[in-house]
Amino acid sequence: MAESDAPFEGLLIDGKRIPAASGARSPVMNPATGEVLAHVAQAGVADVDAAVATARSSYEGGAWRRATAGERARVLLRLAELIRANAEELARLESRNVGKPVGESRGEIGMGADCFQYYAGQIPTFGGRTVPVSAPGTGLTFREPVGVCALIVPWNFPFAITTWKVAPALAMGNSVVVKPASATPLTALRLGALALEAGLPPGVLNILPGPGGAVGAALAVHPDVRKISFTGSTEVGSSVMKLAADDIKRVSLELGGKSANIVFADADMAKAGAAVFSVFGNAGQDCCARSRVLVERAAYAEFVERFVERTRAIRIGDPLDDATEIGALISPQHREKVDGYVRKGVEQGARLCIGGKIPRGDLYDRGSFYEPAVFADVTPDMVIAQEEIFGPVVSIMPFDGEDQAIKLANGTIYGLSGSLWTRDIGRALRVVRAVETGVIAVNTSWSVHLEMPFGGVKRSGVGRELGPSALEHYSELKSVFIAAD
Ligand code: NAP
Repeated sequence: MAESDAPFEGLLIDGKRIPAASGARSPVMNPATGEVLAHVAQAGVADVDAAVATARSSYEGGAWRRATAGERARVLLRLAELIRANAEELARLESRNVGKPVGESRGEIGMGADCFQYYAGQIPTFGGRTVPVSAPGTGLTFREPVGVCALIVPWNFPFAITTWKVAPALAMGNSVVVKPASATPLTALRLGALALEAGLPPGVLNILPGPGGAVGAALAVHPDVRKISFTGSTEVGSSVMKLAADDIKRVSLELGGKSANIVFADADMAKAGAAVFSVFGNAGQDCCARSRVLVERAAYAEFVERFVERTRAIRIGDPLDDATEIGALISPQHREKVDGYVRKGVEQGARLCIGGKIPRGDLYDRGSFYEPAVFADVTPDMVIAQEEIFGPVVSIMPFDGEDQAIKLANGTIYGLSGSLWTRDIGRALRVVRAVETGVIAVNTSWSVHLEMPFGGVKRSGVGRELGPSALEHYSELKSVFIAAD
């Protein structure tokens, strides 16, 4: 498609697709081909004011906030069904915009639909209670919505993370403004259209693509925004938290990670050694990527060999091809950054066993592809062992004994995810309790479940998404005391 033929996507405010007040628009790219997918309106501060005013008036109008639990649940269920009905189109759009394999996108779109279904089911279960009090009367608590919530989303899982925020926020009766990442706004905009089709009143869900430094920051300081839910880098999350502090906004942050995959010598080595997508899934652009692998010395050589062999077999290619396992990175600039980390690893003396370069050939020359890099003999002080690379680069290190494994695992500023591989149940329980992380999986890389809280400790964030805990972030507890006479 010629750049001039690319469709135009507007902002979504008050149920209408509109251009930005300034008229600004920006091309959105396919990182696997370099083609322009669409021109998207770029919101500015005036659009933030309009969207927040709309969200506030829809909230105060009460059509959604005061809808019964059953009415809200029905709209969320209809939205889940509409996502399923449009799943293939959404998955292909996500893959074209992010560069990720279409199989991964299908899973994420399916998870988005399940997320609305899950929170529809939670609505009637999540309320206040009666409280026995030592005074003559009755104590009651209510769960009230917070008000206008600003939801800021990164580019790596654009649709899934949007649904993780929008579904619980709407379930509790809030009105929201979503700020998608500039690189990947397309499926969020489609979600907005589907929500209207599902019967969500106009103005309850507003979507504002635009530069984070302007739009995200304006939302973080807007006096009518009561809550910010941010997913992105630790650096920007920290700045959002500071901006939100003056108004004592409710803030939840899902930030970066440097998660550890801890492999003991008694583990099922065939499974542990083949778990390359625990770090290379989504081309390593995953906050949960197990970008450090700690292996007990007795199994170290065997593990490295297995991991390298499975990496050698990875199919890098066209994201829309069902056989592809790794697509493109989000942009040439990001690939350059990732490659810089690989050069740093080599310079600091880590052993590059495979990958760490740009593949060549027709398809590869058009997009931001990169060969997954496996480093062995990494030491904890190296840059590649400490910093979040957010690309397909893994650092493998040996350890001796449980205590050293725990010390190494805890030896970064992050604490988001992780895996542990062992057949010893006692050790599994000791180690999962000792690792400073919000989430950890045993004998699998699968750690994100809709029904379970997800989030980090240390500089990986504050608060939990998913599960019933997300509803706590999108509601306020109100205590009511009724005198006995
Ligand atoms: P990012 O640069 O921090 O951006 C995240 C979002 O914040 C984008 O929508 C961005 O808009 C916006 N933003 C940028 N500057 C802002 C500012 N000054 N004020 C308010 N908002 C601002 O992160 P990213 O590069 O998109 O995503 C990668 C990072 O996200 C990684 O560190 C990764 O670990 C983290 N992440 C964490 C989780 C989790 O659940 N813990 C999940 C996924 C990703 P623009 O796109 O316009 O810049």
